[in-house]
Amino acid sequence: MFGHVFINGKIVIENKAKIQVRDRGFLYGDGLFETLRSYKGFIFMLDAHLQRLFHSLKVLKYKIYFDKEYIENAVNKTVKKNNLSAGDTYIKIIVTRGIHSGDLHFDKNYKPNIIIFADSLTPYPEDDYTKGINIISSSVIRQAAGSPIYLHKLLNYFENIFAKDEAHYKGAQEAIFLTRDRLVLEGASSNIFFVKGNTVYTPPLTQNILPGITRDVVLNICRENGIKVRQRKIHYRDIINADEVFKTSSVAGIVPVRKINRYAITGEIPGKITTKIMKLYLSKVELSNLH
Ligand code: PLP
Repeated sequence: MFGHVFINGKIVIENKAKIQVRDRGFLYGDGLFETLRSYKGFIFMLDAHLQRLFHSLKVLKYKIYFDKEYIENAVNKTVKKNNLSAGDTYIKIIVTRGIHSGDLHFDKNYKPNIIIFADSLTPYPEDDYTKGINIISSSVIRQAAGSPIYLHKLLNYFENIFAKDEAHYKGAQEAIFLTRDRLVLEGASSNIFFVKGNTVYTPPLTQNILPGITRDVVLNICRENGIKVRQRKIHYRDIINADEVFKTSSVAGIVPVRKINRYAITGEIPGKITTKIMKLYLSKVELSNLH
């Protein structure tokens, strides 16, 4: 059974959707994407995802001939066409620069291609949330303070999928990127937090990591609920000695970690503060559902 996808203003059955082979997304990974989800039909944090997408489109000099409302309508139409208006949906918005015309720089009259998927969401195993996941450190080493390219959710995702495969091969669910001096930056498809004592820590965006939407929701939850939170550089030894570790992403939400490489988190999983944040996150989801 094929679903329907949105492609440049039309919704077509997936196996009939066509994009030219000279598209720069295909040739060079020259495009952006957003992955998000709905809960019982309500798309969570759509505005924030569109804001991040449009910010990246502008910074990376894509020709923007559409606005946020256009994408929002397209997402809603795609969800509806796939009969997912009441379900939990996995949504992917893709914008490529368009058809390549010779030069590698961005200064041509490119016309971006817009593609949107909406699929029924396959839930993650319940054990991930109740017992925690294993994470490993990737062999892909990033520079300290990274490169500004990592601030954007680029189609060029090879480092991330390579790291995911390393995790899979080692029986783990996520891989984290470290610098040569063993600073923790982010997961292959998540942001990383740890708890020590009564304080929650996560690396700052000045280290050129993805400004995760869920990361931001968690920072706000902490601030609104009197949970101490600090954005500062995190060393590998901080997380292996942490009381609690968790990762965040739009599709999986907040997922506790039980083991980092061979180091197990001692104490209950999810820990006290992680449990509190997970509950507050779910009530935020429910609350936004009512609006
Ligand atoms: N960091 C990276 C590299 C990611 O790919 C993702 C999501 O896929 C995240 C962090 C989490 O971001 P968000 O909370 O916006 O899903």
